[in-house]
Amino acid sequence: MTRIAIIDPQFDGTPDIELDEAGADTEFTILRPGYDPVSPADLDGADAVVNCRSRHYIPADLVAGMTTVKVVVQAGVGFNHIDLDACAARGIPVCNTPDYGTMEVADHAIGLMLALSRGIPTYAERLWTRDDAWGTHALPLPPVRRLSIRTFGVIGMGRIGTAAALRAKAFGMTVAFYDPFLPAGTELSFGFTRAATLEDLLAQADIVSVHCPLTPQTAQIIDDDAIAAMKPGAVLINTSRGGTVDLDAIERGLRSGKLNAAALDVLPREPLDRSHPLIAAWGAREGWLDGRLIITPHAAFYSPEGLADMRRLSTRAVMGYLTEGRLRSCVNLRELERHGHRFDA
Ligand code: NAD
Repeated sequence: MTRIAIIDPQFDGTPDIELDEAGADTEFTILRPGYDPVSPADLDGADAVVNCRSRHYIPADLVAGMTTVKVVVQAGVGFNHIDLDACAARGIPVCNTPDYGTMEVADHAIGLMLALSRGIPTYAERLWTRDDAWGTHALPLPPVRRLSIRTFGVIGMGRIGTAAALRAKAFGMTVAFYDPFLPAGTELSFGFTRAATLEDLLAQADIVSVHCPLTPQTAQIIDDDAIAAMKPGAVLINTSRGGTVDLDAIERGLRSGKLNAAALDVLPREPLDRSHPLIAAWGAREGWLDGRLIITPHAAFYSPEGLADMRRLSTRAVMGYLTEGRLRSCVNLRELERHGHRFDA
C-alpha cells in the first residue's frame, strides 16, 4: 500500500482523480491545515507528500521529521517555499508540476493588461451606480491606450512568459524580453527583441509583465530603481510571485504617475494585507487609483480543467518515482548531487 499525504486546505470532495491515476493500492490522506503549519506528525507514515499551491512551507524542521517520505511534489510551479537543500540532505527529490496551467496564467496576464488598457472593470463598475458614467467625458483613464503600437515586455521568457508573449503578439504588439538564462539565439527562434539587461527591457516596454520565478536574484526585481528605469506611464503586470515586486515602490510609482497602472495577481503577503497603504487606498476606492489598480486573489492558475491537470500530473510525478524511480520535473537535482545522491533527470 502506497500512502500519499496531500496538503491542500481547499481540497474539495474525494481524491478520485488521484486514485484513478495512482491505482487502487494507494491511500490518500487530505490535510487541510488552513493557515497553520503542517507538523511532522501529520506526515507520519506517508511515502510521499503532495503540497498544493504555495501557502504551506516545507522548512528544514518539518523535513527533519519526515521519516517515511521518499518524494515531495509541489502541485504547482513555484517552489520557493520548500527547503530544497534540507530535502536533498535526506535524499528526497522535490518535483514540481509546471505543465498544468501555463495557458491560464498567460490568459490572466493578458486579461489584466486588457482590463486596464480598455478600462473594462472601471467603466462597468461606475455604470452600476452612476448615470454620468455614460458619455465620452467619462472615458479617459490613464491606462486606456491603443495597444497595437505598444511594446509588451516580458521578464522571464519561460513557459508562461512565452505563452503571454505569443498572445500579446496576436494583438499586434511588439514583444521584448529579458531572460539571462536562455541560450544565445533564442530571440531568433521567437522573433522577439531580446534585452541584454533588465534596464534595457524596462526602457523599451510600455507594459512590463513579470514571469520569472522568485529566487534571491528576482526578489523585488521591481523596486524603486526598476520603476525609475521604466518609460513614463508604464503599466506593470505581476502574475509570478508577490515577492518579485516591492509593493511600497509600486505605491510610490502610482502616486507619482510614473506608473500609469498596475495589476497584481500575487502579493508579498497573501491573503492581502489590508493595512498596507496601497491596498488600503485601493480598498477605500481613493480617486487617484481610479482605473489604475487591479488585484486578483492569486487566481491566475485557476480553471477547473487546470486544477484537474494539476492533481493528475502531481500524482503521476509521485507514482513515477515510487514505482519506477523516474523523476518528473525534479527541481533539486543539484542539491541532491551535492549531498551525494545521484539521480537522472
Ligand atoms: P519557467 O521556469 O518556465 O520560466 C521562468 C523563466 O524565468 C525561465 O526562462 C528563467 O530562465 C527565467 N528567469 C529566472 N531568473 C530570472 C531573472 N533573474 N531574470 C529574468 N528571467 C529569469 O516558469 P513558468 O512555468 O513560466 O512560471 C513563471 C512564474 O509564474 C513562476 O514564478 C511561477 O511561480 C508563477 N506562477 C504563478 C501562478 C499564479 O497562479 N499566479 C501560477 C503558475 C505559475
